[in-house]
Amino acid sequence: MGLIITRAVQVTTSDGSAAFEVYPVPVASDEKTAIAVADNAGSDIIVTNETATIDDIIGNNASIAVDELYRLVFPASGAETVDQMAAENNIYADSPAARMWQLAQLAESKLNSLPLWALEFMAVALKEADEVALATLCRAVAQKVSQSGNWNDTFPQLAPKNERAALPELSDCTPIDPTRLTAFADRNGRLASVIPGYEPRQGQLEMIAAVADSFNNGHHLLVEAGTGVGKSIGYLVPVAAWASLNDTPVVVSTNTRNLQTQLIENDIPLLRQALGPERGDNLRAVLLKGRSNYLCLRRLGLLLDHGYMDLDRAEMRQFARTVAWAAQTDDGDLDSLSGGCGIDSTFVASLGSSGEECPGRACRYFRRCMVRRIREKAACAHIIVANHALVFADAGESGGVILPPHRQLIFDEAHNLEDAATRHFSTEVSANKLRILLRRLVAEHRKRTTGILPNLQKHLSGSGGENPHQSQILKDIRTARNTITRVREAGSDLFEALAESLDIDTDVNRIRSTGSDAAPVTADNSNDLLDAITPPAKANPRPVVAGEIRRRGMFREWTSQEGHLKVTEAAVAFNDALHYMGSLLDQIAEGLQATMEGELALYNDQAAEVSGAAKMIRAMAADLLFTLAASAPGYVFWIELVRNSETATYSRKVQNRSAALMAAPLNVGAALEEHVYRQKESVVFCSATLRVGNRFNFISNRLGLDLIAPDRLRACLATSPFNYTSQCLTMAAPFLPDPRSGAETAVYVEQLSGLMLDLFSTMRGRSLALFTSYQMMRQCANILEQPLADAGIRLLVQAKGISRDQITRLFRHGAASVLFGAQSFWEGVDVVGEALSCVVIARLPFMAIGDPIVEARCEAIDNNGGSSFREFSVPTAVIRFRQGFGRLIRSTSDRGIVVIADPRIATKSYGRRFIESLPCAMLRTQNRDDLLSRTQNFITNPEL
Ligand code: SF4
Repeated sequence: MGLIITRAVQVTTSDGSAAFEVYPVPVASDEKTAIAVADNAGSDIIVTNETATIDDIIGNNASIAVDELYRLVFPASGAETVDQMAAENNIYADSPAARMWQLAQLAESKLNSLPLWALEFMAVALKEADEVALATLCRAVAQKVSQSGNWNDTFPQLAPKNERAALPELSDCTPIDPTRLTAFADRNGRLASVIPGYEPRQGQLEMIAAVADSFNNGHHLLVEAGTGVGKSIGYLVPVAAWASLNDTPVVVSTNTRNLQTQLIENDIPLLRQALGPERGDNLRAVLLKGRSNYLCLRRLGLLLDHGYMDLDRAEMRQFARTVAWAAQTDDGDLDSLSGGCGIDSTFVASLGSSGEECPGRACRYFRRCMVRRIREKAACAHIIVANHALVFADAGESGGVILPPHRQLIFDEAHNLEDAATRHFSTEVSANKLRILLRRLVAEHRKRTTGILPNLQKHLSGSGGENPHQSQILKDIRTARNTITRVREAGSDLFEALAESLDIDTDVNRIRSTGSDAAPVTADNSNDLLDAITPPAKANPRPVVAGEIRRRGMFREWTSQEGHLKVTEAAVAFNDALHYMGSLLDQIAEGLQATMEGELALYNDQAAEVSGAAKMIRAMAADLLFTLAASAPGYVFWIELVRNSETATYSRKVQNRSAALMAAPLNVGAALEEHVYRQKESVVFCSATLRVGNRFNFISNRLGLDLIAPDRLRACLATSPFNYTSQCLTMAAPFLPDPRSGAETAVYVEQLSGLMLDLFSTMRGRSLALFTSYQMMRQCANILEQPLADAGIRLLVQAKGISRDQITRLFRHGAASVLFGAQSFWEGVDVVGEALSCVVIARLPFMAIGDPIVEARCEAIDNNGGSSFREFSVPTAVIRFRQGFGRLIRSTSDRGIVVIADPRIATKSYGRRFIESLPCAMLRTQNRDDLLSRTQNFITNPEL
């Protein structure tokens, strides 16, 4: 008998002090009865014996809170309170008790639907976590499921693939009709029929026609779609038409998850609705992420088979929830698990698929594999929403194996493409990376040790009677465990030596080879695209340390007194330790594989884990050689100080001072042209900010589009539907001091704060201030916090621990608020309406001085006879400036002011390029009073 809800009764406690609604509930166990108790303050399901009195029940610590039960069976829910849980299930009963009870019923019915294996693991894990009542409940349900014989296969094998025929050639494709597509989005079109108050946008219609043309004729396209154009619909309409008509996939790549969510949850469903029931339902779209985002059943299986009893109490609770999630997920997307309450992201990440460990078809879970499942779903889809990193990784694999074959590709948020490619192809050797790697092998906890090696050791030792194979493997494991200490200490010595070699007041020092010390470049993880950026040189297992280090603006010989010798010695020791560790792991994996036919066949999965770890260790050794030598052309190399929080708990030594070795490509354009653009028929680049000075030259040059034959590249300018002249007052404040340097900065901060206080008071909050430095943002915040509070204005400041979306939500819904943000806030804040009526740009957003990538790129331009300031620094800043400006007007009814508080826009000759990039005229104000009176005038006279 399972958990069955029978009736509801009203009772009162014996002392008459509290009234409860009580629902007696028989459960499977013979001796137990579950009773739900609810009052206005909370609700519990209580498991107790039948003879208990209500007072016993109320005081019984074996109770299960409804929200705990809910979190267990719906671990992906982000709901934190019972009311939120009720709301997300459309439970709106008047009485809190009734709402609680309906939630309990829902959770119970979900529990009943879980497969037997999951319920049994959950029962054991919850017992270990001291969640006795929940464990009893799971066991009771497991008994019921077991008796019913309904064992439920959670991970059914995949149906035979519904594979597409080979990609059609362009000449075999049916062209799409731009006129029909624009009619679809025009005044009386299908989109208008599903969006109340729909107003067509000319820019969007032009974009639809331009994208359709690029698909029909097989050329690439740059589209700058101003704010408000609706650029995602602008490309989705032709994408959906092309993909459906020709049964071929089109990839849409974004830079941010927010945009992916918007496409999958809003824009594509809207398009389906507009297409009508039949054609809409047939439009298949899928969100594809990197493989580490998907549950690896082999890793889960290992945890279930061997590893989970080593978890501590808190992890056991997480494990129970994870099992409940794994039993329900149909796509294995770990983001949905980590988004839920109370599951640690490191624990979630340990379940993600890893390319190094995945044996592919040889995996015993291959037929049910989540990664395979999502890829096959993508192979049949019309629209594949991906991210830039996935597209680069795919271009790196010969022939592309991550994304299904495709010839049409949309890069949205294309102004970030160079940064995304640079990040993707960068290399880092750091204490943090080493710590993560070693923790997978052995992790020491207060009272126990976990990880691949101890788990394997335990299970080999416990598998009964050692044979010679097992003895050898166990010996190797013991040696490998001892070697971990050597690797850790050698790494610690190197990172400390690197930190000591940094200039005393510097966080970053670039390094480079002198030529005579030119060293080998190897990278186990190299791929075509990476190789195109820099061809790997001959392998050499001994590290060579770059001969030159940059100090006070110039490269000079890096002497032994400055740490060269110490770094070299530490690097040799670390490299040796890594190689030794790698060979030991190989030996263990080979030992396991060699005995696969016999009694150790069960350890197939561990063999994959061990050899995956060996690959990662070797990759780190290769990265060490590559970054230390600093000899590869086309790269910038540097040593970077790592702050303590990133290395905490790694080693006492490193907590004090640690540094990382870094490398990044200088130019990604040529590689992108060869491996992405040349392989596709149409690549569309879109963003609200691609042009500088009304031309696409800068972005074309940075992204390698200038390498494309002119007849293969077109451009489209889809203008914003907003009337910036009437909707926006843009003012410069040339009366402020120059914000650039030293003592002047303090004066600037003081005067800027004074101006902002007056401005925000006039605006009654409703303002966003964008900074280029956290330090200046905090200085201004410190000055303004109290005066703003006195004026009844809430100040929200970007800070660690609160996401941009969370703080923006607070700003959007709070009255009279001011938001201070830096970095991502320049392009991440989207607030429609009066809540955001003023934007202050504190400083023109030039890239940070001292950024080694920026510095090296500037040098490369200057060395080629160009002007890095004119050709790189200013255009990069203009694009960012346009993004910041674009925060203000988000709809045709928005109205507000932008204050550019950097006087250089009005006083320097390059300021003209910023001014020309604005969609409306900029006023030069005389002084603070002038600026404030114009502000007052603008907000009180809507007709202006
Ligand atoms: S095939 Fe690879 S990703 Fe899939 S379950 Fe096996 S190891 Fe994990």
